[in-house]
Amino acid sequence: MRIGLEIISLGLVFWLEGVFPLFQGRKERFRHARRNLGMGILNGLVISLGFAALTLKSIQIAENNSWGLLHQIHWIPFAEGVAAFILFDLWMYVWHRANHEIPFLWRFHRMHHSDLELDSTSALRFHMGEIIFSSLLRLVIIPLIGMQFIHLLIYEICLQPVIIFHHSNVALPEKLDRIFRAVIVTPNMHRVHHSQIRDETDSNYSSIFSFWDRMIRSFRKRKDAQTIVYGLPYLQEKEWQSLLGMLRTPFANVQKKV
Ligand SMILES: [Zn+2]
Ligand SMILES: [Zn+2]
Repeated sequence: MRIGLEIISLGLVFWLEGVFPLFQGRKERFRHARRNLGMGILNGLVISLGFAALTLKSIQIAENNSWGLLHQIHWIPFAEGVAAFILFDLWMYVWHRANHEIPFLWRFHRMHHSDLELDSTSALRFHMGEIIFSSLLRLVIIPLIGMQFIHLLIYEICLQPVIIFHHSNVALPEKLDRIFRAVIVTPNMHRVHHSQIRDETDSNYSSIFSFWDRMIRSFRKRKDAQTIVYGLPYLQEKEWQSLLGMLRTPFANVQKKV
């Protein structure tokens, strides 16, 4: 179901990007999509073969032993579900920010930022190393929160369309973007995160709810989204855009983050 929803969202947004693009005249849209999709498929395999069973096991162990915050308090299931959703989204903020602030993690995460043409398929462009570290930490965080399987499933079902949406190259009018970003992360908000300007790269870390950045004072806005230059100044060469180049990015001896 999750994969089905992901494919439908991706197909729909990719089509909209073709009809109403913000950045126009991209000649290699399909080639770019193919590479990012390739990376997404590799990551999907890592998660399903390496971590799906382990994650379920960690949820089960926490449940059986009443470990974790939500197993200590006894709220109605709906309230527990809402709390799990919000807490896990906060974890996503913390994890994303750690990827920017810890140099070792940044080596992997910078591959997401080296995309020179942001679009819906960029939502799949994460290094396998980042996915593995994130999945390992989730084996601790999920039991700590006391999340049930259904909580995680609902979060993932909501996360995928939102990530695809906020990476998209659709020319969403600013008025609409502003309405959406009162609650969730929007294209104009996340575009700033993919800017080459360091202060902008290190802002807007939220995944689903946009309020984390406002609360933690990492929110940045740009009126002129069309003038944002994507990518990283030190990973401009074409070689970093191929599947192999993307996989090699963490080990590249390029200039440090500037
Ligand atoms: Zn980032
Ligand atoms: Zn992104």
